[in-house]
Amino acid sequence: MFFFYIFFFLELWELWELWVPFQGTYGSPNPSLFVWHLTTLSYIKYMWSIIAHIFCYDIWFYISHLFLHEPKIYGLIHNIHHSIPLRDLDYTSTHVAHYAENIIQPLGFFIPFFIFGFKPGCAIISFSIISVRGLLRHDDRFSWLIGNHHLLHHKYVKYNFGEYWIDRLCGTNYPNKKEYIYGKIYT
Ligand SMILES: [Zn+2]
Ligand SMILES: [Zn+2]
Repeated sequence: MFFFYIFFFLELWELWELWVPFQGTYGSPNPSLFVWHLTTLSYIKYMWSIIAHIFCYDIWFYISHLFLHEPKIYGLIHNIHHSIPLRDLDYTSTHVAHYAENIIQPLGFFIPFFIFGFKPGCAIISFSIISVRGLLRHDDRFSWLIGNHHLLHHKYVKYNFGEYWIDRLCGTNYPNKKEYIYGKIYT
């Protein structure tokens, strides 16, 4: 369903982009307006592409993380990531995981390449955001900035499989609000 929404909005976006040059060429006497539209659109589309990378990664991460918590898979693969005691978790714990997990979980990041094509700038920016967020969310020294949603997953493994919004949406968020630290820039 999520992917349906993504493709639906992208289709609308493509149609609008086709419509704007048409207006610029035949409807507007001012060619600079046409250029302005295109420049603004390309910037907005660039930003949208970065957001799409993060969005697709988050949805894929959530689904694959649920799969990793299936009892048999958990014992084979994901228990390595959960083997670190809560008090010892820090940013270095992020990549402590089975090699299969380190391959499976980033795959969602690549979906937007099929939609937008390969844009090195977008890839670098969005990958950097995802990577830094992954490091910070395993370290309680940064909870004031980024929240403790993922740390609560390490404490209560049946909750908080993904980002705050997707867990709220799917009803898998840890219910005791008193234990949450809400980050300044992210939760
Ligand atoms: Zn887990
Ligand atoms: Zn973790």
